[in-house]
Amino acid sequence: MNFDYDLFVIGGGSGGVRAARIAASEYHARVGLAEESRMGGTCVIRGCVPKKLMVFASQAKAMAAEARGYGWQTASAGPFDWVMFRHKLDAELTRLEGAYTGGLVAAGVAIHKQRARVHDAHTVELADGQRLTAKHILIAVGGHPQRPGIEGEELGLISDDLFLMEKLPGRVLVVGGGFIACEFATILQGLGAETVLSYRGDAVLRGFDEELRRHATEQLRLVGVDLRLGSTPERLERDGDRTRVIWPDGTDEVYDAVMFATGRVPNTKGLGLAEIGVKLGDNGQIVVDEWSQTSVPSVFAVGDVTDRVNLTPVAIREGHSFADTVFGAKPRKVDHGLVGSAVYLRPHEVATIGLTEEEAAQKGPHEVFVASFRAMRSLFAGSDARSMMKLLVDAQTRKVTGCHIFGPEAGEMIQLVAISIGMGATKADFDAAIAVHPTLAEELVTMRRPTRYIGGAHPDKTVGSA
Ligand code: NDP
Repeated sequence: MNFDYDLFVIGGGSGGVRAARIAASEYHARVGLAEESRMGGTCVIRGCVPKKLMVFASQAKAMAAEARGYGWQTASAGPFDWVMFRHKLDAELTRLEGAYTGGLVAAGVAIHKQRARVHDAHTVELADGQRLTAKHILIAVGGHPQRPGIEGEELGLISDDLFLMEKLPGRVLVVGGGFIACEFATILQGLGAETVLSYRGDAVLRGFDEELRRHATEQLRLVGVDLRLGSTPERLERDGDRTRVIWPDGTDEVYDAVMFATGRVPNTKGLGLAEIGVKLGDNGQIVVDEWSQTSVPSVFAVGDVTDRVNLTPVAIREGHSFADTVFGAKPRKVDHGLVGSAVYLRPHEVATIGLTEEEAAQKGPHEVFVASFRAMRSLFAGSDARSMMKLLVDAQTRKVTGCHIFGPEAGEMIQLVAISIGMGATKADFDAAIAVHPTLAEELVTMRRPTRYIGGAHPDKTVGSA
């Protein structure tokens, strides 16, 4: 059968763009791609990129305070010009969008700037009614934020809205305790908003190493976020141009803005997937195998729409591996087991890779090395910010199985630790590296004695066990 394309990609985000570009430029496939919104997807347009720029902007006050601690008596960050920042941000996103589009065009990908849905296993239908056939279809449509299902929730913002605000709210409530809630609470607080973070659990960042979570929770308070644990709003009401929040105990408060960061769901509604036999999971995610193939053999899916590890670099790797496998005859799977990530908080970043202490204890005997200290830079400036570093070492193999950091540039550090752990480095390998002094990262190669033993009897009977 003659198809219009070898590959049709639905979704111009990180995963879809990478797959389209590699299939077309490396393997000379005839590729079409449909995107209904701005090219670049969540990460570029309404996620990682604008968020990280806002993180940089939000650090100015803390940097000024630090400068004063170093003797710059007139250092001051304010006032912050949100409108100017927003214009610059939009210009930058337009530039990036252009780079993404340019990369696709240069690779020979045909771009369709409209919504597409699947019609059958080899046909997509565009919003204008046009039907196009393809040997393979790749779904890379990502996800979207979900509100928590409370009365008046439509009055609250979601993360997409934050980048488009006309002005900064004076007083803001952020609901949730995950990546997005914690990052936006620190951003908004840093930009000058009086910020309340309401989370239903007892420590933010559920799923992270427990000790790291507790450390991050405590430090979030230190930067001035009004952190309310075990709390979640019951309903929202309009109050003039502000929003009234009614709490379960009947008390209420008024905010200039309420933001929900209560999770994300895959964008599978209305795509025609179930109708052609593509299996979906409970959360609406596309169920795929280790090759990103769905239950319909010609249809593949990558990125957040599959709800595996919802991070941009993972989607990129999945998209690239798909193209290598299907068009390059180079079968490549993605190892979702060892993925590093960072949460851009203040006073410091959270970064993590590998097993948490709780997971390590389940796997068997481990040594836990923990250091908690005030870094030289902030200590000198008079800040109470505390860094924390943790290594988990398998007591049998001596391999480092997990690393968790709360510290300045922790995201940068974990990237390099990821290489060592990926190569199977042992604690002795870490110890063999001569420290670079004075740095924060030297702590990772100078932790000599285990803080504790977990996961059962240590193979060396002379040391303690959990
Ligand atoms: P998460 O799933 O990480 O967090 C959702 C939060 O909302 C949790 O704290 C959850 O509580 C809470 N919640 C869920 N439902 C309700 C409800 N009905 N009422 C009250 N609270 C609720 O989602 P995010 O939206 O923060 O992030 C989505 C994904 O995006 C992340 O998992 C991550 O993969 C990615 N991301 C990565 C970033 C990075 O790498 N730096 C930055 C931003 C996003 P509970 O814990 O109790 O379930």
